[in-house]
Order: sequence, then C-alpha cells, then structure tokens
Amino acid sequence: MPRILDGNRVRDEILAELKPRVAALAAKGRPPGLAVVLAGRHPASEIYVRNKVKSCEELGIYSETLTPADSIATEELLALVERLNARADIDGVLVQLPLPPQVDSKRILMAVAPEKDVDGFHPCNVGKLVAALPGPRACTPAGIIELLKRNGMAISGKRAVIVGRSDIVGKPAALMLLHEHATVTICHSRTPDLPAVCREADILVAAIGRAAMITGEYIKTGATVIDVGMNRLDSRADVARIFRNSPEKLAIFDKRGSVLVGDVDPVDVVLKAGAYTPVPGGVGLLTVAMLMANTVAAAERRAAAC
Ligand code: NDP
Repeated sequence: MPRILDGNRVRDEILAELKPRVAALAAKGRPPGLAVVLAGRHPASEIYVRNKVKSCEELGIYSETLTPADSIATEELLALVERLNARADIDGVLVQLPLPPQVDSKRILMAVAPEKDVDGFHPCNVGKLVAALPGPRACTPAGIIELLKRNGMAISGKRAVIVGRSDIVGKPAALMLLHEHATVTICHSRTPDLPAVCREADILVAAIGRAAMITGEYIKTGATVIDVGMNRLDSRADVARIFRNSPEKLAIFDKRGSVLVGDVDPVDVVLKAGAYTPVPGGVGLLTVAMLMANTVAAAERRAAAC
C-alpha cells in the first residue's frame, strides 16, 4: 500500500508552531490581524473564507471579513483595499477569488500592499519567489513543499512534473520545487503526450481542475503524487464511475448530494503511487495553514519595523 501524505498531521504541526509566535505578538501589543474581502455570493468561496476565519480564531489571530455586494465596481473595491492597506491593526489583506466578473481582478490584486499580501500574488512577491528572496509565498504550493518535507520525502535531484500553469498553483509550485533542487517540467493543455511526460515524474503534481483526469497511465510506479484538485461531483453516476461503486462514497453522495474528488484518479493512485495526498485531507488543509503562517510572518515583519 502506498504511503498517505496526511494533511491533518502536517497542518496541526504548523499551527502548533505558530501559536507561540501569535502569543508573543499579542503580548507585545496586539495579535496579528487578517482582513478577508469576500465580494459577492460564491458558495465555494464562502466555505473557504469560513475555514480561514476559523483557523484565525483557533490561533488567536484577529480577523475581519468584509462582504461588499456582488455589484461592486473595481474603483470601489480598490478604495476598500486602500483603506485596509492603511490600517495599523491589519497585517494581511486577502481578496478571495474569483471576484465578480465586472471587477478587474488583476488591478485589485496589484493594489494590495506587497507587505500585506499574505497570498503571495503581488508581482513584487512573485519576483521575490523567482529570485529566491524571502517574502510571502503562494499558500497552496508552499503547503505542498511543507507536506513533502515534513513527511521526509526527498525533493533534491528528483524529477518533478507539474500539470497546470496557473499563477496561483502551477507556476509558483514549479519555482518552489526548483529552489528545492528538483528538475522541473511544467505541463498544460497543449502539452503533447501528457501521460508519457507525467510517467517521467518522481513527484507528480496535478493542479488542473478536472475530476480524476490523472489515471494510472500517467503515474510511474512508486511516484509521489500530489493532488491539488478540488472538484465537486454532482452526479451519482460520476461518483459510481470514478470511485468504482464505492459504497462509502455513494453513501456520502446520498447524504450530501455531492462528493469531492481531486484531479487524480482515486483508485488508480492507490495501485500505482508510492505516496500520495488524499482529497479531501491533503493539500487543501495546508493552504489555510500557510495563509496563517504568512499572516504571522507579515505581523512579525511589521512589528520589527516599528
Ligand atoms: P486553473 O484553471 O487556473 O489552471 C488549470 C491548469 O490546468 C491550466 O494551466 C490548464 O492549462 C491546465 N489544464 C486544463 N486542462 C488540461 C488538460 N486536459 N491537460 C493538461 N492540462 C490541462 O486552475 P488552478 O491552478 O486555479 O486550480 C487547479 C485545481 O486546483 C482546481 O481543481 C482548483 O479547485 C484546485 N485548487 C485547490 C486548492 C487547494 O487549496 N487544494 C487551491 C487552489 C486551487 P492551460 O494553461 O493550457 O489552459
């Protein structure tokens, strides 16, 4: 049986390390502060934001959720971000994506002060990542690195293949693995013979957004498979097909009306991989933990600068 890279354990470890740092900041004057901007109604975003706020509460981080209407204009949202940038009690500003379609998302993300950019999306911080300088790192890929390292998985000298080239997962994951001395290949929708490229991977990262696309033919026997995907299956037939009629998954579907699956085939990965991250219970948990880590680090940097 392959090894399961359990996100719960690593998340708990990271949060336990952050607790005394939060307490030290609070003792010096005030706890770290995180502002989350959730524009419009988006059920998945609402769940993500709830998880982030809950983690803040558990750690003693002050958090504030701002919920402007779906109809908000770019200029109004820019003004809101500017106000948060100027607030002394706020160390991190997170703008939950996706934003309503009329909003210019790039302008909004650029408006977050780089020192409060706890998502690591601002071009200044992307530049720091490219140059391997300290700074906030994109949370999901940073979580992948923590999962690998804290499970004692070697990265240096390994062949890493990443499927997906988004700014928030694929590209930063590639850079972080490169800085850990992996030999990195980035794939996308125009990559010819994707299964053959993926089979070269010792570490295969799937960040695609397509349910169970990475089947056994993409996985080298014994590879470490990191599944970033979070796809909701709303059809019982899909659940039955993808989970091979698993009674447990069908029971979850019958109770909740949907089942979560990653970008990796959940049955094939068990047959082929040497280690893998489950969905749920893998990478997703680390994303929130790394957001907390970025918020605490931002607060520490600001406290040191005072
Ligand atoms: P994007 O949609 O921004 O990027 C998807 C990437 O996958 C693109 O680069 C695209 O290629 C590539 N792709 C799509 N179809 C194929 C295909 N058939 N073959 C090869 N490549 C393909 O997605 P994100 O990076 O934002 O997210 C990816 C997944 O990760 C989603 O399921 C998302 O929900 C999940 N996610 C999970 C997080 C977590 O905390 N666990 C956090 C963030 C995301 P191209 O560029 O050519 O179009």
